Amino acid sequence: MIKEPIKFERQRSEMVKKHIEARGITDPFVLDAMRTVPRHLFISEALMDQAYGDFPLPIGDQQTISQPYIVAEMTQALELKPDDRVLEIGTGSGYQATILAEIVFRVYTIERLHSLFIKTRRLFDQLRYHNIVTRYSDGTAGWPDESPFDAIIITAGAPRIPETLVRQLAMGGRMVLPVGDQHTQDLIKIEKDEDGLHQSSLGGCRFVKLVGEQGWKAG
Ligand code: SAH
Repeated sequence: MIKEPIKFERQRSEMVKKHIEARGITDPFVLDAMRTVPRHLFISEALMDQAYGDFPLPIGDQQTISQPYIVAEMTQALELKPDDRVLEIGTGSGYQATILAEIVFRVYTIERLHSLFIKTRRLFDQLRYHNIVTRYSDGTAGWPDESPFDAIIITAGAPRIPETLVRQLAMGGRMVLPVGDQHTQDLIKIEKDEDGLHQSSLGGCRFVKLVGEQGWKAG
């Protein structure tokens, strides 16, 4: 890992204690990952001092890096195991993808905005996350060649559950996504087994739009 100022390390461990553990996240894989990934490197230098607050921050192109608690909550809900293969829709800053990459064997992540795709791909290389595979496309179509996935996470708000992605979920797989209107959504978890699909709600959230064939129209 790269060297970092001691103040960020301290702020990060505070953040995990105050906003993640205190609010009920218990999965040791998730807590370790949140303690490890330097969130300040995923945002612009001007905002770095706010990196360890529990709120989303702008990352350019009208997109945001998610609030740390939501990242932890969604990751825990995926019930990850080290040999899992995970698909993420909405690479954005890359923060969520690296949290996943700290825990699982391989992460596949898709971004539809070219500038973010290029910038974040470069960051993954710099930080040596060699187990993250990136793709520039509409993630609502999923990644058929690499499916099925043990877990799928959508980090942008969908108008409805994208059927294509449900089909790319392995038997025993878990999927977490925000579903709702363009202002607020419900965080939904889907589990797939021999009896079919089981859906539960994790509570309210607020994400930028999932734009694509099975999402919102652009504009
Ligand atoms: N996981 C990101 C969150 C970024 S915000 C992080 O940790 O920073 C959501 C991202 O989803 C944006 O970058 C947006 O461009 C992207 N997005 C929206 N619709 C998409 C789609 N259909 N396919 C791929 N990416 C999409």
